[in-house]
Amino acid sequence: MKITDVIFHDLNYRVKRRYRNCCSPWIDSRPASVVEVRTDNGLVGWGEGSGALSREAIETHVIGKSPFDYEVIFEALGQVRLACGVEIALWDLMGKALDMPVYQLLGGSRRSSVTAYASGFFPLEGGDHVEAVIEEAHRCVGEGFRALKLRIGFGREMDERLVSSVREAVGDGVGVAGDVNLGYDVATAIEVGLKLVPYDLLWYEEPTVGDDLDGYCEIKQALPLCVTGAEGLVGLRAFREIVQRRAVDVIQPDISRAGGFTEGRRIAALASAHRVGVMPHMFGTVIRLAATLQWLATLPEDPGGIHPTPCYLEMDVMENGLRTDLSPTRFDVEEGIVRIPDGPGLGVEIDPEALRRYAR
Ligand SMILES: [Mg+2]
Repeated sequence: MKITDVIFHDLNYRVKRRYRNCCSPWIDSRPASVVEVRTDNGLVGWGEGSGALSREAIETHVIGKSPFDYEVIFEALGQVRLACGVEIALWDLMGKALDMPVYQLLGGSRRSSVTAYASGFFPLEGGDHVEAVIEEAHRCVGEGFRALKLRIGFGREMDERLVSSVREAVGDGVGVAGDVNLGYDVATAIEVGLKLVPYDLLWYEEPTVGDDLDGYCEIKQALPLCVTGAEGLVGLRAFREIVQRRAVDVIQPDISRAGGFTEGRRIAALASAHRVGVMPHMFGTVIRLAATLQWLATLPEDPGGIHPTPCYLEMDVMENGLRTDLSPTRFDVEEGIVRIPDGPGLGVEIDPEALRRYAR
C-alpha cells in the first residue's frame, strides 16, 4: 500500500450566535484543517490538524511511502503542528488496511466507553450570561451529561456567581470544572481559586498564562484544587518542563495540535513517568473527536491509586456543523457516556457532500 495523494481541506462553519471566552475576541466561525490521504489500493484516511504542509514537503516525505512508515514520515515532516493531520490520517489508513480500530494498533483498549463532560458555557452575544449558563447546564444534564466545564476568568465576583449558580442548579451529583482560558495573573488566580474551593470543582483549568511555570507551581501549592493546562503545547519537548516540574496535576494535550498519536503517546509516557495525569483537549471536528476517543481508549488511569485521574472526554457542546454534520457517524452521549468506535481506523465516515458544503 503506497500513498498516492494528500489533500488538505480548508473548512469553516459560521456560528449563528457569536460567543467568546474571557480572553478571546467574539468567535463567529469554527475553521478546521481536514486532511485526506489516498492510497493505491483505494483506501482513504482522514485526519484533522492545525494548518497545511507545503506541497514540496508532501511530495518529498509522504507520496510513495507506506502509511506503516508513520513514525519516519512524521519525523521527516518536522513541523509537528502542521503534520498532525497527516499523522492521524496514517493511523486511520493502517486501521482500515488491517480492519482494526486504531486503539488496537496502539496496544489495545482499556475501556469501551468514556465519561464525557460538556464543554461550553461561553458568554453568548446578547442576553444575561448567568441565566444562559444555568439554562445550558439544565439542558446538558437533561441530555445525560454528568460533568460540565464552565468558562470562567471574568473576575472574582462573576466567577463565584457562575460556579455557585450552576452548582445550585445541577446539585452535588454533577461534576463542575472551571476553565480560566489563561485569563488571570497568579495572585488573582489564587484568590479566585480559593473562593471556588467550597463548590467542589473537578478541576481548575489554565488559571494563568501558559509559559509562567513558576506561577503554575505557586497556584498549585496555594490551592487544594486539581490544576490543569497545556492544551496549546506542540510536540513532546514543549511538555518536558511543565511535566518534570509537575507545574500542573493534569496535562491536556490536543491530538490535532500536540503531534497526533505518535507524539501523543510519547507525551503520555512522559507524564506517566512523572505521575502527572493526561486528559486530552478536544475542540474541533468529528475527526478530532473520533481520534481523541481512540486515544482515550488506550490511556491508563494514571496516576492510579484510590482516586485515579478519570479519563474524561471533552465534548464540545458549542454549535459546530463540522462536529455534527460532517459525518453520518454519531457520537451520542447516553447517561453521560460516549462509546468508543470499534470500526476500522478512527471509526468515522466522512460525507463528501458535507465536505464540499463547508469548504472555505
Ligand atoms: Mg481549556
